[in-house]
Amino acid sequence: MRARAGNDYFGTSKWRSCCLHDMNGIETSPVFVRTRNTPFLVAGPCSAESPAQLAAVAQALETQGIDILRAGVWKPRTRPGGFQGNGVESLKWLQDVRTATGVMVSTEVANASHVELALSHGIDVLWIGARTTVNPFLVQEIADALRGVSIPVMVKNPVNPDLRLWLGGVERLEAAGLTDIALVHRGFSFFNHKKYRNSPIWQIPIDMRTERPDLMLLCDISHIAGSRALLADVAQIAMDLAYDGLMVEVHPEPDQALSDAAQQITPASFRQLIDGLHIRNRQLDVQAVHPDIDRLRREIDRLDDRLLQVLAERMHLVRNIGDIKNEHDIAILQPERWRRILERAVQQGTGNALTAEFIEELFKAIHQESIHHQLDVMNPRPEKPPTS
Ligand code: PEP
Ligand code: MN
Repeated sequence: MRARAGNDYFGTSKWRSCCLHDMNGIETSPVFVRTRNTPFLVAGPCSAESPAQLAAVAQALETQGIDILRAGVWKPRTRPGGFQGNGVESLKWLQDVRTATGVMVSTEVANASHVELALSHGIDVLWIGARTTVNPFLVQEIADALRGVSIPVMVKNPVNPDLRLWLGGVERLEAAGLTDIALVHRGFSFFNHKKYRNSPIWQIPIDMRTERPDLMLLCDISHIAGSRALLADVAQIAMDLAYDGLMVEVHPEPDQALSDAAQQITPASFRQLIDGLHIRNRQLDVQAVHPDIDRLRREIDRLDDRLLQVLAERMHLVRNIGDIKNEHDIAILQPERWRRILERAVQQGTGNALTAEFIEELFKAIHQESIHHQLDVMNPRPEKPPTS
């Protein structure tokens, strides 16, 4: 295989031999395996727009040693009237760049007929988009269409922040016999976004990795960021959170792109972005490299114990108040009191170098739990009947 050109981070890349999917039952080695400490890279345009556009970007990215070229052929657009992709015709363009460059090619499939067409055009890797993962009927249809086929599949998170739905998508594919699966975190759709196009909610992919440490986790920085200026920061966060790699939208002329123009970058900028990443060691445990870690972690455990003790004491007091509210028939939620608690906490906490955002989240969780306790005190469940 090619070596990545002129990049120190990639100098140590351990390349596997290229893996093609095989529809005749011949053993193929998996694509989504951790073989190196450098990021696994999926890059290419949002959409396959023309043979020339695809050839230009594929050629430029091939010399940078990407792992998989991506290009959408059927585009899920939020509102009608936008560019919907070039369909089957562009599958042929993907075939052509595959032959010309030797880079594995991938596209998004959203139903069984997309799967049939992608397979019959020799697409190496498929991905399931966020608007499809959200729909168990469609994921099942795709899984059924893939039964008995050995092909790598990337599963993007669903548009809504539902860990179980994301897991469910993976499980449906696995139940159909697919084994070469990667997760792609592309952020979550929210009304009134502030910074990002799709809110990353990093805790969800972190939870996902706790559930499925065996699966490669990639970060689709383009769909999270939504704009070029934010890409590098999101990519660095992903590296710091030990993601296995990135998916990035790259276009030879981003400003002319027919879809997602604001978030696409040129191959040269892609190169710059990857070169600028600080790649941290993902295999080594911090404990193995520094003797103080053990002591510091014990200290943290001790503080965590105290936190839990304090919270338990708080809930005890909350239940006492619940008794009094019950006695006087007073509603649980006292909006004015809650407003003051939050205001005070934010004021105290920000003075102690905690962020207002964190304190709000923490106190909302504490308040929720307090409400549960008072609901329990004020609406006692009838004793369960004996089960014998
Ligand atoms: C895409 O990758 O071009 C795409 C449509 O992404 P998502 O499913 O994450 O919206
Ligand atoms: Mn896109």
